[in-house]
Parts: sequence; C-alpha cells; structure tokens
Amino acid sequence: MIRKLLIANRGEIAVRIIRAAHELGMKAVAVFSEADRDALFVRYADQAVCIGPPPLSESYLFYQNILAAAKSTSADAIHPGYGFLSENALFAEACRAVNVIFIGPNPQAIRKMGDKATAKRLMKDAGVPTVPGSDGVLESAAVARALADEIGYPVVIKATAGGGGRGMRIVNEKKELENAFSAAVNEARQAFGEAGVYLEKFIRDPKHIEIQVLGDKHGQAVHLFERDCSIQRRYQKLLEEAPSPVLDESTREAMGRIAVAAARSVRYDSVGTIEFIYDGRTNQYYFIEMNTRIQVEHPITEMITGVDLVKSQIMVAAGDKLPLGQPEIRKTGHAIECRINAEDPQKGFLPQTGTLRQYIVPGGPGVRVDAGVYPGYAIPPFYDSLIAKLVVWGETRKEAIARMKRALGEFIIEGVATTIPFHQKIIQHPEFHSGMYTTDLIRKITAADGEGVC
Ligand code: ADP
Ligand code: ADP
Ligand code: MG
Repeated sequence: MIRKLLIANRGEIAVRIIRAAHELGMKAVAVFSEADRDALFVRYADQAVCIGPPPLSESYLFYQNILAAAKSTSADAIHPGYGFLSENALFAEACRAVNVIFIGPNPQAIRKMGDKATAKRLMKDAGVPTVPGSDGVLESAAVARALADEIGYPVVIKATAGGGGRGMRIVNEKKELENAFSAAVNEARQAFGEAGVYLEKFIRDPKHIEIQVLGDKHGQAVHLFERDCSIQRRYQKLLEEAPSPVLDESTREAMGRIAVAAARSVRYDSVGTIEFIYDGRTNQYYFIEMNTRIQVEHPITEMITGVDLVKSQIMVAAGDKLPLGQPEIRKTGHAIECRINAEDPQKGFLPQTGTLRQYIVPGGPGVRVDAGVYPGYAIPPFYDSLIAKLVVWGETRKEAIARMKRALGEFIIEGVATTIPFHQKIIQHPEFHSGMYTTDLIRKITAADGEGVC
C-alpha cells in the first residue's frame, strides 16, 4: 500500500500527480530546486524538501538526493513525471534497492524500449511495422551510406538515446551524409552522453499518431485509443487531439491491437505510449518509438475515455489489477489540448522568462486547465517553457474546436509572451479544420507569416 508519494518532477506534471495522490488518499511530498521555492507544486504538496541548486544535474536529476528525501520523509513511492528520471532504468532499480516503489514500468521494459534503436529492432522482430532503416545502431558512415542508397533519400539519422525532438538530422542527399553522420554522433555524445545513432527513411508530410497503453503486473494490457500529435514545431508537439480525425475504424482497431501486442512483448506493466508515423497517402503506419512514462498530452485520452491515467499508473505500480478489460474501454466525443508555453512565436518560439502580471484561466463546460503557475508567479529561466495545458472536450470535433477557440479567447496571460496567439491561428486554419494536416502545418503557418521557425 502507498501512503506517501514523492514526486520527482516540477511544474504542471508535479501538480497533476499531487492531485492524483490526494484523490487516492495519499500524502504528497514535493522535492524542489532552489529556483522552485515559490512554485505551485511546492504549495500543494503536504511536505516539501529542497534538493539542490537550479541546474538539473544538481537537483531534479541528482537521484541520490531524491532517494534521501524519500527516506527522510518516509515516502513509499516515487513518481518521476515525464522527462527527467522517468525513463531511467538505473533510477527505477535504485528505487527498488531502497524499497521504494517506482511509479513506472519494470526496469527491464524501460531498458528494452528506452534505447530507440533496440526498441525498433525488438518491435520489428515482434511483427510490428517499423520505418525502413538500420537494424540497430550504425557502426560507421560507410554502413550508413550503403543503407541510405538502398532505401533512398531523404533519410533521418537519430540518436538512440534522443528525446524531446532533439538528436535528429534529416539528410536530403548523398553528399550530405558523411558530414551529417559525424555531426549526429558528436551531438548525440554531447547531448545524451551516448554516441549511438541509427538511420531510417524520412517520410514526407506524415501524421504522428500514438496509442496509449496500460498494463499491470498480472500480465494484462489494454489500449486507450489514439492521439493525433501532428501539430509540431522542431519535432516537438504543440497541439494534440483525440481521436485522430483521419483514422478509419479498422485502422484504429488494428493499431490498438498491435500496440497492445508490442506492450505485451516486453511485459509492459504501466502507462506507456507507442508512437507511429502514419502515411495518409497509403494508410500505412510505422512504429517509431515507445515512451515508457506518462505523456504530456495524456489528458486528452482521459477526457475521451473517462480513465484517470495517473491514478491508474499509481495503482498498477502498487500491484493492483487493471480494473477494466478492453471491451469496457470506450471513447466518447473529442478532446483537444493546446500547450501554453512561455515562448514568443514571433521570435522563433524563443523561451521567455518573467513575472505573470495577470493570469486568468478559462472555464465553463468541457474545459480543463492543468497548470504549474499562478498570478504573480515568476517563471525561472532554467527549465522547460511549458506553463499550462488547456484541454477541452466536445461531443463532436466541431464542438471541441469551437470550445477551444472560445477558451483560448478567455485565457489572459500578461507579463510574458505565450503560444496562445499561435494556437488561435492553428485552430482557425482550414487545414486544421479538415483534419488532414500533417507535421508540416506549423512550418506553413509561420512561412505565411514570414516568421520562419523550423
Ligand atoms: P523523440 O524521441 O524526440 O520524440 P521521435 O522519434 O518520436 O523522437 O520523433 C519525433 C518526431 O519527428 C515525430 O513525431 C515525427 O514528427 C518526426 N519523425 C520522426 N521520425 C520520422 C521519420 N522517419 N519520418 C518523418 N518524420 C519523422
Ligand atoms: P511527450 O513525449 O510526453 O509529448 P515531449 O517529448 O514533448 O513529451 O516532452 C518531454 C520533455 O519534457 C522531456 O524531454 C523534458 O525535456 C521535458 N520536461 C521534463 N519535465 C518537465 C516538466 N516538469 N515540465 C515541462 N517539461 C518537462
Ligand atoms: Mg517521440
């Protein structure tokens, strides 16, 4: 049984997890850096422990201090949120070694799926369609060249330890390959401390469609439908919707079935996301990676299924059986999430810091705001720019779009530039309305505005 849960993260996701803990009757312990003393999640927690100075490596990634905080507060479990330590198998093992429950999958599953090249190979072997490319990490530029000749340009070289849209290099023609390969290796080593890179076909104008899965420690696994996350800038998601407006029922059902099989093949026992690239021209989909954690955009799935994913994640980590079988998981209506980032869309989405002089959140039917801030809060310069997630639900996609437009109009933030005005452009764009948009839409909007981002 979990009585006290420590949250090894910050910002909106820390607030989200504290809410789940409180609803489950658990106490919540926050750990925070010196830069986060005044953060909302610190106020909401029942106890809070300062774990170090602002740099990530000295606080939110410094897991000895986090484990010490768990011990000193007698926490029985640690939730790592997303990013940070969430996909770190060593951390999951270290928790286990000191008798603290890690709220996430077993370390073997993290290991198999956390390394992107290994994950792709395993999934290919399990019969999951994957993007054509290398079987694992590339040994040399010569191997990369031979493979690229075989599958055809453009190709993308990816860091096997990459994430958050970083560590990818698109190679359009043969003469760029050699340089791109060495640059990718160096970048990977610097950014992720791991030089391994792999290669795959770069699919033009695809959709990003991902399946939410949930497994337990008793061998059960289900899916909770898909999210369409094709609105991206720099390979990072900005707006997501569920369900995808383009999938037909039989493709939806097949993708769900494949995602569950993929999860089962690594004995997956938590919430996780299987990401696919979807080619609308051929109705083909290809596995790209699995995220072995709760995802930023999880609320849209909660809105259409009524399943609380964070509470489910905590309960399965504590050993509970899944309360619902696949036939009981149904979807109703349509949900959209806009990531409200402290960024200036007119300056290439440059992150902003400053004090929120005014902060008034939208409300009314079908509106949910998951945020980590409050009026008067000063955004520290050290962390991710996500400050709030605006999520709406509607009976139909049309109603969800109208509701999002209305809610964006009500959201008042003064003191820092945000992505709100940019979301207003997306939500009114004819291609967004058609549902047929691809990962290229933001580039089109910024090019039309003369802003140039991607
Ligand atoms: P990360 O680990 O950074 O999330 P992903 O492998 O999931 O990296 O890729 C991030 C995004 O990059 C995808 O959502 C998609 O938009 C784009 N992308 C990745 N692989 C391909 C590909 N082979 N072809 C076209 N776009 C791709
Ligand atoms: P997802 O795959 O869930 O859509 P992204 O890949 O867009 O998420 O973002 C995950 C990234 O979020 C991590 O790589 C990390 O840089 C960042 N991150 C980690 N913790 C936080 C946090 N508390 N608030 C905002 N961003 C965070
Ligand atoms: Mg991804």
